[in-house]
Amino acid sequence: MKVSVFQDYFSPLGIEYNLEWPTLAKCLTHFRPSKSKKQQKTWSPSIFRSPVNHLTNGSWSRDDIDTPQKRSKANSYEVSCLVFDYDDGQNISNYVLSIMEKTDWNFAFHTTSSATLQDQRWRLIFPLERPIDGFVWSEGVKEPALALWRMLGLLGTPDMGALVDAARIYSLPYQTAYTCSEMRTNGKNLDVSFNEQVFKEFEIVHTQRTVQKAKAYLRSYLTSIYKHPSHVCDKEYSKNLLVACTTSRRVVAERLNARIVGDKVTKWPCPDCGKSDATYYYLTAGTRAFCSHQNNCGWTGTVYELAKQWDVLP
Ligand SMILES: [Zn+2]
Repeated sequence: MKVSVFQDYFSPLGIEYNLEWPTLAKCLTHFRPSKSKKQQKTWSPSIFRSPVNHLTNGSWSRDDIDTPQKRSKANSYEVSCLVFDYDDGQNISNYVLSIMEKTDWNFAFHTTSSATLQDQRWRLIFPLERPIDGFVWSEGVKEPALALWRMLGLLGTPDMGALVDAARIYSLPYQTAYTCSEMRTNGKNLDVSFNEQVFKEFEIVHTQRTVQKAKAYLRSYLTSIYKHPSHVCDKEYSKNLLVACTTSRRVVAERLNARIVGDKVTKWPCPDCGKSDATYYYLTAGTRAFCSHQNNCGWTGTVYELAKQWDVLP
């Protein structure tokens, strides 16, 4: 799974690592020699790309896609882990471990720099089975994360600002007065699409009512979440993706060898009459495509319909 590591809190440009969970978990729970907080290396569960720049200047090469860009919400390309900060001052390690024993999820948790034995602060990290698109993350993570938080029996609420911020960075742990960490590396990564099973496991420790509530949260989440393009290939997914995701509509334009000027995608073949003079505007969510030559055939449809017709589904 891909993460970014930064020299310190102020570095805009990170270095990417693609690590298997066992290695990543070790890195994330290794307490480094003490330095001041601001001098610590930081990490982000996101990797960063700059779609907007490339879209506006008209270039989009493989290099653009593979080169890390400055850390920002807009540049967050995908998120690989769910991270909770628990700052309620309690020792939750035994409790969380007892909950985790009832699951086979991978996880890591460790004390953060401000923790003392009396006043504990924790960071919990769950690796995701699939990375989640940065935009989708910020739009959709709140409800399922809250449901998970409650299932874990944690008090209060997580820092929602941090949670929905797909550009969030976290200090890598370093030696302070009190440190403690735990991890599981031979289990399963958290997969939001298998939550029925997850909830089943939690029925052992929680009341039916809590489970029902959590399920309701999850349902609203699953209808809004889309899996990442590189990991899935099914039509329902493509359909949703093409409504929600600008990049996917751009990808269709490129596969059609269309002319892309600003927001406008032209000179691709109409699915109905076949003339290479149809149009859509890819920056608008849910945009419609239409045949646009003079005395045109009147065809109009969604980007999904045209992508399906020409076999260029993302
Ligand atoms: Zn036409």
